[in-house]
Amino acid sequence: MTDCIFCTIANKKIASPLLYEDDYVVAFNDINPQAPIHVLIIPKQHIATINDVSPEQELVVGRLFTAAKIIARKLNIADDGYRVVMNCNKHGGQAVYHIHLHLLGGKQLSWPPGCE
Ligand code: AMP
Ligand code: ZN
Repeated sequence: MTDCIFCTIANKKIASPLLYEDDYVVAFNDINPQAPIHVLIIPKQHIATINDVSPEQELVVGRLFTAAKIIARKLNIADDGYRVVMNCNKHGGQAVYHIHLHLLGGKQLSWPPGCE
């Protein structure tokens, strides 16, 4: 999608240093980090929301988690632990409509998140 910021990053139309890349996904730092480590992992293919994931896309969606594991190890937060989150639509707090896994870590994260 030409007007999607994350497609633009995945297609390398705008420069954003990539922490990880394979055939299906790329990862980069969140522009507004909510933790010492806040990485976004996105599919190269445009998928707007979790609601739009089809069975044929299970491999690419699964790869988001495999990439999270690899990146967490690379950034030395695997053993201490981390959180992965994917927001869906308005009530979930989704702002960018190209699915992305947030990888958060580098400190003790509070739980549960705000439910107000
Ligand atoms: P969400 O609310 O789950 O849709 O998360 C969107 C995330 O994308 C937010 O954490 C933003 O800070 C982040 N974000 C938006 N634009 C960019 C960008 N150009 N580069 C990196 N992160 C971005
Ligand atoms: Zn997109």
